[in-house]
Amino acid sequence: MRRVVAGPEIERLIQLLSKLPGLGPRSARRAALHLVKKREELMQPLTAALGDALEKIVVCDTCGNIDTRNPCMVCADETRDHSLLVAVENVADLWALERAGAVNGRYHVLGGTLSALDGIGPDDLNIASLISRAHEPEVKEVVLALSATVDGQTTAHYITDLLRDADVKITRLAHGVPVGGELDYLDEGTLSAAIRQRTLF
Ligand code: ZN
Repeated sequence: MRRVVAGPEIERLIQLLSKLPGLGPRSARRAALHLVKKREELMQPLTAALGDALEKIVVCDTCGNIDTRNPCMVCADETRDHSLLVAVENVADLWALERAGAVNGRYHVLGGTLSALDGIGPDDLNIASLISRAHEPEVKEVVLALSATVDGQTTAHYITDLLRDADVKITRLAHGVPVGGELDYLDEGTLSAAIRQRTLF
C-alpha cells in the first residue's frame, strides 16, 4: 500500500507537476519539495507569473504564436523581413527558430502536420490561412520548416501543391549532418540525404 507522506495540497502540487513534459512522478516530487523549500524566492514569484500568464496569454490571430499581445511581438515587429514567411508545426518550433536567431522573417504556425493515422486533415490545421498569407504581394518566399518525418514531408508536399499558382519561392530546411555531428553515428537516411544535398565548399 502506498503511504501518503504529505497533506492533500502538497500531493495535488506533485500530481500537477508530474503532468509537465519531462517530469515523471519522482522528479515532480523533487520539484515540489524544492518549491516548498524555496517558498519566497521561487514559489511566490512562480505563482504570480502563472497568474499573470493565465490572465494575459492570447493566440496571435495572424500567425498562431502564443503571446500576451495580439498581434504578437513577432508580427508587430516592423524590422522583420515581410518577404519571408516561415511555416512551422507548432509554437515550440517557432520559439526554437527564434532562439537560434537564424531568420528574421515572420511565421505561420500550422498547429501540427497532416496525419492519416491520427485522422488530422487539412481543415484541422492552419493551412488555408497560410495559403492566403502567401498570396500577399510582399511575400516572396515561404520556408516550410517542418519535421523530416513522413507526416512533415507529406504536409510540405500538400502545401507546395496549393501554392503552385502563388508567386512565391518555396523552400524547406536542409536535411543532413548536424553541427558537431560525427558521420559514423548518423543513420543511413540522414547520411544519404546529406550527400545528395551536398553544397559547394
Ligand atoms: Zn503573430
